[in-house]
Amino acid sequence: MSIQRTHAIVLRTRKVRESSKIAVLFTNKCGRISAIAKGSLKPKSKFGSSLELFTRSSIIFYKKENRELHTLSHSETLESYEGIKDDVFKLAYASVAAEMVERLMPTEEPNEALFGLLASVLAEISLAERPQLEVILSSYELKTLCLVGYGPELAECVRCGKPVEGAAWFGLLSGGVLCAGCRNRDLNALAISGEALGLLRDCRRESIKKIRKTYSSGRVSREAVDILNAFFRAQISEGAKVRSLDFLERIRDTSVG
Ligand SMILES: [Zn+2]
Repeated sequence: MSIQRTHAIVLRTRKVRESSKIAVLFTNKCGRISAIAKGSLKPKSKFGSSLELFTRSSIIFYKKENRELHTLSHSETLESYEGIKDDVFKLAYASVAAEMVERLMPTEEPNEALFGLLASVLAEISLAERPQLEVILSSYELKTLCLVGYGPELAECVRCGKPVEGAAWFGLLSGGVLCAGCRNRDLNALAISGEALGLLRDCRRESIKKIRKTYSSGRVSREAVDILNAFFRAQISEGAKVRSLDFLERIRDTSVG
């Protein structure tokens, strides 16, 4: 057993026994871990609100070798991203960001760049107006996919290498854009407008903050985020349900504005 000090973001929690909870945490030094916080649901617990969803904290935990569940001994809030907690839309977008990390990162494999990206998307979601949420998520999704080696090709046809200009097709299984001549070589190719492709290229190149300040929601951002979500489902979850995406799509389609 060893003592580890690291920063952590709460991806998910569940209650165990009467007064404890198990938190799934993404840490900057130890990757994704599960840890039990004994007594954390008692009033006046030493953990305070540091284990609430999406909170970024400084933690100390006892790491048990060859075990999946570790024991949290200390946790102190660094940032609680207050803007997210009272807004069901922001919660839904933040949940997609968290579920992506959970699905993409194997247990206990550190990725400091992805940790920084998750912290920055939570900060931007917290600050955002509702119409900015789609482009923020698109930018985060694209950067995350690139960081873990699933980044789609956006400039050249993935089959023949021809540069792609304007409207094209996006091959969900081929991993990027297809020219008109090659579109039939991926049965799961979706049409994509030149504007949505341009937005995706900007989302990959620019910081999430700049994307939040530059773009707002509309037909183009909806098209971009829908294509990325379809790509995520096809490539990463292999068609299995992605709970947070299903929820986001449900509330987005029933909202008036
Ligand atoms: Zn081609």
